[in-house]
Parts: sequence; structure tokens; C-alpha cells
Amino acid sequence: MPDNKALGIVEFCTHEYAHMSDTRYPTLLSPLDLGHVRLRNRVLMGSMHTGLEDRARDYPRLAAYFAARARGGVGLIVTGGIAPNIAGWVKPFAGKLSWPWEVRRHRQVTSAVHAEGAHICMQILHAGRYAYHPLAVAPSALKAPITPFKPRALSTRGVEAQIRDFVRCAQLAREAGYDGVEVMGSEGYLINEFLAPRTNRRNDRFGGSLENRMRFPVEIVRRTREALGRDFIIIYRLSMLDLVEGGSDWDEVVATAKAIEAAGASVINTGIGWHEARVPTIVTSVPRAAFSSITARLRGEVNLPLITSNRINTPELAESLLSSGVADMVSMARPLLADPDWVNKARAGRARAINTCIACNQACLDHVFENKPASCLVNPMACRETEIVLKPVAQAKRVAVIGAGPAGLAAACAAAERGHKVVLFEAATEIGGQFNLARQVPGKEEFNETLRYFRTRIEELAVELRLGTRVDTASLRAEGFDAHIVATGVRPRRPDIPGIDHPKVLGYAEVLLGAEVGRRVAVIGAGGIGFDVCEYLTTPHPSPTVEPARWLDEWGVDLTYRKGGGLKPPRVEASPREVWMLQRSSGKPGARLNKTTGWVHRAALKSKDVKAIAEVEYLRIDDRGLHCRIRGQERVLEVDNVILCAGQESVRDLHDALRSAGMHSLIVGGALLAGEVDAKRAIEEGVRAAAGI
Ligand code: NAP
Ligand code: SF4
Repeated sequence: MPDNKALGIVEFCTHEYAHMSDTRYPTLLSPLDLGHVRLRNRVLMGSMHTGLEDRARDYPRLAAYFAARARGGVGLIVTGGIAPNIAGWVKPFAGKLSWPWEVRRHRQVTSAVHAEGAHICMQILHAGRYAYHPLAVAPSALKAPITPFKPRALSTRGVEAQIRDFVRCAQLAREAGYDGVEVMGSEGYLINEFLAPRTNRRNDRFGGSLENRMRFPVEIVRRTREALGRDFIIIYRLSMLDLVEGGSDWDEVVATAKAIEAAGASVINTGIGWHEARVPTIVTSVPRAAFSSITARLRGEVNLPLITSNRINTPELAESLLSSGVADMVSMARPLLADPDWVNKARAGRARAINTCIACNQACLDHVFENKPASCLVNPMACRETEIVLKPVAQAKRVAVIGAGPAGLAAACAAAERGHKVVLFEAATEIGGQFNLARQVPGKEEFNETLRYFRTRIEELAVELRLGTRVDTASLRAEGFDAHIVATGVRPRRPDIPGIDHPKVLGYAEVLLGAEVGRRVAVIGAGGIGFDVCEYLTTPHPSPTVEPARWLDEWGVDLTYRKGGGLKPPRVEASPREVWMLQRSSGKPGARLNKTTGWVHRAALKSKDVKAIAEVEYLRIDDRGLHCRIRGQERVLEVDNVILCAGQESVRDLHDALRSAGMHSLIVGGALLAGEVDAKRAIEEGVRAAAGI
């Protein structure tokens, strides 16, 4: 097995926060001196597009969102990407700063953040060939695989004009009150496209030799420094690992970093992976801090402070990265969406109460791709700070919450936070509901953190938790609650197939909780849970997510950088089982999985040779296996087990009974609607119900 330490992979792993105090994070919470300015700690809220940057009317919301993170103790914030001109828009009418009249809206953001004692930089992002519009420009006219628009190749004068627009944009950012800018040089956007031979085929002074390819970013930084003076932060986000064929090699990364330092940058941030890379870089199955050793490798090559990034979500990990000398700051974007008070909680020794980002992307990046404002699955108040408010109550009510899955947990904690007296009933002997199943799936270990968070909050808020307790109308009436929130969840659907009671048939819950499964398996259902179960069945335990060296091998990431881009041939671990995943409908199995994570699940199952089959009619199950008709042809899948992942049905009997008895009842989560039930909707409904009581 590859050795983590030999590869410089940071090992962390304890989930134990007991008896923590602020002294656990001395480096993380120490100030960072950038010469003209002193940051109050080493937590950078990294750039993330929220969808609120695009329209002037959303800036009050954006200001409230950033102000909450500044109040929560973060040292430096970087905004979502703002284009320096129209060609640089990520999509039509995306956020841009190129005219004086666009300055005013930004002042709301900068003054709100400064009032809370934090610093803020604006990210200048030119989309280059990733632009989702026909005005796209790039070093060469090469279409990106992830957009339909072929860019126009910039003329030499055109490149000069882009540099001027970057500088102008930085000047306007200063007028808007920003403490600096982050020049976005990674992730495969325009600047990165100039640097990499993959996308730069020019033969003028901006193409060819490395010196020429790096001229574009170096000139942007040099002229921005010249125009703005010393007292302005310039962060340069350097692509340290492109993860695409034809990407920069390590010597080029180092040479670029040195040139950027000489050009006048204040700090270098880490960028990992182009958006077109076929290696996941931020989803939940990526090991924590998987790429931080790359930042560490740059240390000693430049004197500038370095920021490390990607899949860092707990204070203990952040502290271990900083204290072991990997970097001078840590960048976190999604973890601060998930918990605006992340830093203050760490400082107060309350790390166990941090609502940890589980890297699911479901409410943040997936929303942005769907043209909806970002929020957060575990914190539905994110980006809705002015809309969902947990107001303290004048008169506390006695509230019963029935069901301690995600919806019930969220409802109970939100109601208690407002001051209500809450009793949380759960029929099982532990909290968690469907999360107890999800956390068994390889690559979903982070779900444990959400349960740890809720356990802590239940204690802190003195929610009375009654486990192993099944209630009914009579027992609830006897206690005289003022309000009931029913979060009784779902039961798995049992399809009507002859032989469904055969001993080789198992439910997904039994499987995920450890039932023995044979070597040949048919999975009925190809939704989110069908995929999860297939990953569970085909991944040798423990999951590569907790053994980073195995994960890097599986995805073909070479942190020793033997060639440009940092890729090597993937080495997939053989599946211990042969698996068929089936659905009745036509279309590609997994087509409805989420935008930013679905491709990772589909690629993982493909690499394990899972046979995904659509248009299947189930005929019967018997000793031979599963008899079915596939696109008209009868077949027997001779399997040891058939696993049911055929969706769920709501459990709403209690709600109906309460309503019939004339008692108050609000219903939330899977109990309300089983189809499309997911934790995002469940948690949001729980919080909204509690906000309204
Ligand atoms: P789902 O996504 O609705 O999928 C249910 C599957 O069962 C479908 O493939 C469906 O396909 C099949 N099915 C439905 N009725 C059937 C019947 N009577 N007989 C046989 N097959 C039947 O539900 P799920 O997989 O249970 O997931 C539940 C929710 O959790 C979803 O909303 C999902 O988004 C969420 N989730 C998400 C993730 C994630 O990674 N983001 C992971 C797990 C769960 P056919 O009708 O074509 O046969
Ligand atoms: Fe993290 Fe998921 Fe929330 Fe995004 S939606 S911030 S990935 S927990």
C-alpha cells in the first residue's frame, strides 16, 4: 500500500474534540502580518460564487451574508469571482466591475465586513474559455470540453487590453473599499489558460516559452501593484496542480510563483485542478486536505505567505496544517457557509458545536449551476440571513418534535435556539435517521460530523431527548404540548415482484447496517441510494477517503509530479463483487444525480465495472436469481442477493392522527414528501417550521 507520509500527505483523523479549548489552535488563531496590514487570524474565507454577486439588488443580502462570517471571527474574506470586463463574465450578466457606477453596490459589502472587524478582498475572475456565452476569449481558439462556446483567440493588443481591465478592476475595487484583490490564476480560467501548453498555442510574446506564457499573469500583478501602491493586498491564486494533460509541470509552477512574487503579490493561494479535470477535488469523497502537501512543497521556493486549500473543514486539521508548516493560512469557503461562527466556536473551545461542511455541494455549488442562489444543506440560513431568522421568543412554548432524523434534529435545535422548551422523541436508540445509513457509505464519512454537531447542540440547548420512545396521539395529548412537529421520515418501498420475500432479497438499510452480501448482486433501483449501495458493495473497506494514498492512486493523481498536470494512470482497486444496477425507466442511470457530484459517482461505478442497465422489467426472484426482461429479452441474473433500492414512502400516520384528533401538527421532511426526499429539503423544512412557531 502506498505510504501517506512518504508522499507528504498530511495525516489527521481523530474526530474527537473533547476537552478542547482555544489553546488547541494557537497558530490558527494567531495574527498574520502582511506588512501594511495585520490579519486577526489565519482563516481565509475562500472565494465561492453564491449567485448574489450578479445583480445590484442582491447586494444587501450579500452584505448580510459576509457580515455574519466577519462577525463569526474570520480573518480575511475573498468574494466570489467578479469579472474585469464583459468577455470575462462566467455567464451572461454575471458580476462585473469595470465602470465607476458599479462601485457603489460593493461598498455595502465592504462596510458591513469592516464594521465586524474583518478584512475583505475582491476576487477578479476572468472566465476565459470557460465563459458560458459567445463573447468568450482565450489565448487560443480552443473550445473547452465543459462549455458549448468556442472562444475567440485574443490578438496581442487584445491581451494588453485584458491586462488593463484587470488593473482597472483592481482600482475600482479599492474605491469600493476592498482591502485588496485576489487575482484568479487557477482552475483553468483565462490566466491558467495562458500558462498551460494545453491551451496556449500562441506564437507572440504571450505564448511559446514559459517566460512568454507567464507574461500575462506577471504583468497583471506587476501593473496592479504599480497602480495601487504598497498598501493593497494582492493575493495570487496559483494553479499548483492542474490535473489535466498538458498542464504545467512542477518547475513551471515554481518559476511562476517566483515571478509572481517578484511582480509584487502579497500572498499566494493554492488552486487545485481545472474545472474540466476528471479528478474530483472538493467533493465529500476527496480525503481531507488531500492536496495540501503541494502547498507545502512550494514553501522555501518563495518568501511570500502561502495559503493552502481544498477539503479543510475542522479547526484541528487547520491547526495541524499550519503548525506543521504546510502553509501560513488556510482557505475555507464551504465550511464558513455551513457555520458562520466557525472561528468564534474554535476560539471559545466549542469546536464540537461547529456545524461542519460535509462537502456535498448540494445546496451551494449545485444551486449555482442551477442558477439559484447558493445556500447550505446543513445550514439553510446561509445566503438567506435576512430571510430565515430564528427570532428569540417572548413566550416559550412546549414543543414536541417526533423523529430525530435530519428534519427533526434541525427542527428541535432551531426551536430550542429560539427559546422554546423542546422534547425530541425518537423510536430508534440513536439519533440520525437516514444519516445513520448514509454515513456507512464509503466516501460519506463526513455525515458523522453532522450527527456529532446535533448531539452537541441537543446538549447545549437542553433539548430533552427521548430515545427508544414511540409516541401516539394519546401519549402526546397527555403531555399537553403546545405544538408538534412530525418528522417521522420514510419507509423503504417494497416493489410488488413475485418472490420478493425470497431469503436472497435484502433491503438497502439492512445492507448498509452490515448484513452479509454474496459475490454476485443485483441492485433494484438506480437513484441516489442505488448508487450509494453499489459504491458500498464494490469498495474494499476501509474507504480510500480515509486512506488518501489509496484514493490518489485510484484517481491517478501524482503528487510527486513526474509529468505536467500531476496525473498518472489510475490504479483502480478490484471490486470484491460483481454488481448489476437496474432501473425500469429508459435513460442513463444516474442522470438525475446532482450536477457537481453525479459525474464522480458515475465514474466510480464505471471503474468498478458495475453493469448499469435501463429499461428492465422485473419478472420474479427465485433460487436461481433475478428473472427479468431487458429491452424485450428475457434474462436470468444468477445472483446471490437482490438488494432493494426502489425509493421510499412517507410515514405520516402520526400526523394524520394528530390532525384528526384536532391537535396541532406540522409535518416536515420525508414524512411530508418521500419522492425526492433529501437532507437538504428535510433540514430546511425543519428549520422553517421551527422559525414559524
Ligand atoms: P430515487 O432517487 O427516487 O430512486 C428510486 C429508484 O427506484 C429509481 O431508480 C426508480 O427507478 C426505482 N423504483 C421506483 N419505484 C420502483 C418500483 N416500484 N419498483 C422497482 N423500482 C422502483 O430514490 P432513492 O435512491 O431512494 O433516494 C432517495 C432520495 O435521497 C433521493 O431524493 C436522492 O436524491 C437522495 N439521495 C441522494 C444521494 C446523493 O448522492 N446526492 C444519495 C442518496 C440519496 P425506476 O422507476 O426507473 O425503476
Ligand atoms: Fe458544505 Fe454541503 Fe453546505 Fe455546500 S451545501 S457548504 S458542501 S455542507
